[in-house]
Amino acid sequence: MSLVVENITKRFSDFAALNDVSFEAQPGEFLALLGPSGSGKTTLLRLLAGLDRPDTGRIDFDGLDYLTLSARDRRVGMVFQSYALFRHMTVAQNIAFGLNVRASKDRPSKAEIQATVQRLLKLIQLEDLGKRYPSQLSGGQRQRVALARALAINPRILLLDEPFGALDALVRKDLRRWLRRIHDETGVTTLFVTHDQEEALDLADRVVVLKDGQIEQIGKPLELYRHPQSAFVFDFLGTSNQVPASLSDGVADFGGFSAPVVSPKALSGAQTVRFRPFDTHLLREGPGFEAKVLSLLPAGANLRLELQSPTGQVFETQHAHDSEASDLCLNDTVYLRPSKVYAF
Ligand code: ADP
Ligand code: MG
Repeated sequence: MSLVVENITKRFSDFAALNDVSFEAQPGEFLALLGPSGSGKTTLLRLLAGLDRPDTGRIDFDGLDYLTLSARDRRVGMVFQSYALFRHMTVAQNIAFGLNVRASKDRPSKAEIQATVQRLLKLIQLEDLGKRYPSQLSGGQRQRVALARALAINPRILLLDEPFGALDALVRKDLRRWLRRIHDETGVTTLFVTHDQEEALDLADRVVVLKDGQIEQIGKPLELYRHPQSAFVFDFLGTSNQVPASLSDGVADFGGFSAPVVSPKALSGAQTVRFRPFDTHLLREGPGFEAKVLSLLPAGANLRLELQSPTGQVFETQHAHDSEASDLCLNDTVYLRPSKVYAF
């Protein structure tokens, strides 16, 4: 077992920022910590890095009791959202920083440090920019340097706290692929904090969903997406359409039409059920939930629709280009029939 976090609680006066959090990461695993702002993500990273101490619980890495180790002895690499590069140092000096500040007995030779810097510059594809200063780099380049600096100490664990949060969407997507590749090349156990579900689902081997300082669910991206254990996880992971239904024996009855229910528990009676944009048919005639087409947007291989019910509720659906949705126009009236719903 690589990283073991067990029953971690962290209070700030009488407020529990983390409440009995437990999870494990396998050696070399890429875990995403996903949760809304204030859910305790940064607090958790700070405890792992040794920048703060939990009130109760255990943090072990490969049999080492991390809570007895100083921040430096934990050999944890960290990257933050804001560019924490030293402005008065060049890119190469920034990358070398963690090695240069080591006690002399642990410090590699000048030549070794230089070789490490060169290797990392190559890894982050900024080979020719070692002499530049941070102010001469783009936001994305700075975050790549920050990652190289974190990797220079040959960390046991890499902790990334919303590292792409300040970058624009296109750069973020690029860096996402790039980060995953770097991870696969270096094999370092990685915890990636984000509040962006798409980023988490796209990048991670497994996702830990946090809410109010507690773990809601842990699972592989598709597992979470297909089998959310709570309404919170369902709503947080993607677009959530909600309608009332009457449940019995795994079927949601909408009065005149019905759909199978996916649910972690056996539910019956009147419930709010949820469905994803893909899990619905659009028909020209009822029965179904009546709605008008508000917008029609091509989204890659699909068509994305916004629909509005007579009472003002907005639904979002997605369909293949060659489906029943392809010849709809704005303001057309359609009838929505969910093909699969979730209930919690
Ligand atoms: P996230 O990174 O998920 O946005 P944080 O871990 O930063 O969340 O914060 C979790 C909760 O703990 C928040 O409600 C925050 O206000 C609180 N918190 C974090 N650090 C401190 C602190 N040093 N003192 C008091 N409250 C804190
Ligand atoms: Mg945070």
